Amino acid sequence: MVDVIIVGGGSAGCVAAATFARAGASVMVIEVGPVFLPAAGHDSRPPDLTDVRRMPIGPESPYTDPISARTTGDRHVVATRGRVLGGSGAVNGAYFVRAPLSDFDTWPQDLWDRKTVARYYNRIEADHDFGDADHHGSTGPVPVTRSISAPIAQAFLHSGVASGHRHLGDLNAPTVGDGIGAVPSNVRDGQRISMAEAYLSPVADRITVRGRSQVARLLFDGDRVIGVTGRDDDGPFVVHADRVVLAAGAVRTPNLLMHSGIGHADTLRRVGIPVVQHLPGVGAGMADHPEITITYLPRTAPDGSDRGTPLQVVLHSGPIEIRPYTSSFDHLIPGLPPMLPAIGVAHMTPDARGTVDVTSDDPFSVPNVDHRYLDTAADREALRGGIALATDILAASTVASDITDPMVGPKVSPGGSLHTMCSARMGADDDVLAVVGSTGRVRGTRGLSVVDASMFPAPVSRGPHATVVMAAQRAADLQINGD
Ligand SMILES: Cc1cc2nc3c(=O)[nH]c(=O)nc-3n(C[C@H](O)[C@H](O)[C@H](O)COP(=O)(O)OP(=O)(O)OC[C@H]3O[C@@H](n4cnc5c(N)ncnc54)[C@H](O)[C@@H]3O)c2cc1C
Repeated sequence: MVDVIIVGGGSAGCVAAATFARAGASVMVIEVGPVFLPAAGHDSRPPDLTDVRRMPIGPESPYTDPISARTTGDRHVVATRGRVLGGSGAVNGAYFVRAPLSDFDTWPQDLWDRKTVARYYNRIEADHDFGDADHHGSTGPVPVTRSISAPIAQAFLHSGVASGHRHLGDLNAPTVGDGIGAVPSNVRDGQRISMAEAYLSPVADRITVRGRSQVARLLFDGDRVIGVTGRDDDGPFVVHADRVVLAAGAVRTPNLLMHSGIGHADTLRRVGIPVVQHLPGVGAGMADHPEITITYLPRTAPDGSDRGTPLQVVLHSGPIEIRPYTSSFDHLIPGLPPMLPAIGVAHMTPDARGTVDVTSDDPFSVPNVDHRYLDTAADREALRGGIALATDILAASTVASDITDPMVGPKVSPGGSLHTMCSARMGADDDVLAVVGSTGRVRGTRGLSVVDASMFPAPVSRGPHATVVMAAQRAADLQINGD
């Protein structure tokens, strides 16, 4: 028996676990992936998790949950999530940017107004470039640094500014608009700092972390959650708790809710899951940032020098984010076949909304994920514009030739940004599709809450990682203080 079980030791789970532990609660984190917990002064993480030049998410990776997801038409991609302590944030591109504060105008204003969100963004970071300047934090757990070392990043920045795009000195400025600038990253001394290092490590002696253990279902006494069941290498297990906090990520959190009887009653009955609470919004409204890549031939052969983080500058133009990746994907992701270098063009405010669904009553079955990218003409039009813009800047940069046009030809092939969010979203009591209230508490239940990217009430228009951390910190504080 513990006070709090945190299901999933990913980005949000690590933040919530540390916050509950600091408040004096006995906390158990249950994580399905392997656990490398760097206690103070002793870093046991393997080099492929710390090396910020790579994302260890290739086909042989031991750190991923490679779920097949439909993108558009009959096309599917592997929608990878991190499956290791630190979660997706332990294997990601380390792009750690704030969303513009205007994104939060659609969040519940009682607890998530612009001023509060800005205060929490400050609280999570130690910005090594801006220090405690206005709108920045200098004492938080997450180091934030910027570096433009890769030739393509330098060339793209130069070419973007020469073509008339505003140079943005600070992508984290609260009213940042369109332009091009250096990417803030959660990197220290060339190492990716996941929330396991930033948040959990300093309180490691106060938290029980149970690795390689998959939670299967929540246990209820009436509407009150009393624990979880799951399985590990030794077989089934049960853990009881006063409170359960879900942080299994935007795919697995709604899936776990459904397998526990919380979801659309018709869907649950169809696969034989007894209904605990009819909440039709579970698994609905999932958002991502669909991305199309343009490939090119570099005019000079790579010199083998250190390229640093995968993404060092981005350009924003309306709904579009352009990402000149610093190396080809086969260099960034071990295990992929040889590829040409690429520029990503992502739609950051798409209409498209997807779903996560259960396929059977077996809690270990793989969820059905459907992104429905590019379902609307407006989304397709915006991406076409972004591709034209990226191509022009790249062509003018003189570092690239033979640039592909991915919209020419019969097949349009959007991939995702792996920025999944909003699949168990927050909202008011009269919002029929809201799954959690403004504090993250699951409607119609007691003792059960969500802190991860599933609870976002609306998608953010930037990479979500910094917002996941900010929101988990805020939600955990609110949940400790009485909900
Ligand atoms: C490859 C990749 C690259 C990305 N790059 C960027 C980037 O550069 N910038 C950016 O802003 N965002 C990026 N993202 C997105 C960002 O990392 C995520 O939005 C964020 O980490 C999500 O945090 P989370 O806590 O919601 O979920 P996660 O961090 O995914 O955590 C979920 C955790 O729950 C565990 N879990 C799941 N089910 C169970 C279960 N049943 N029992 C026990 N444990 C369970 C998982 O193993 C995982 O550790 C990237 C994502 C990926 C996958």
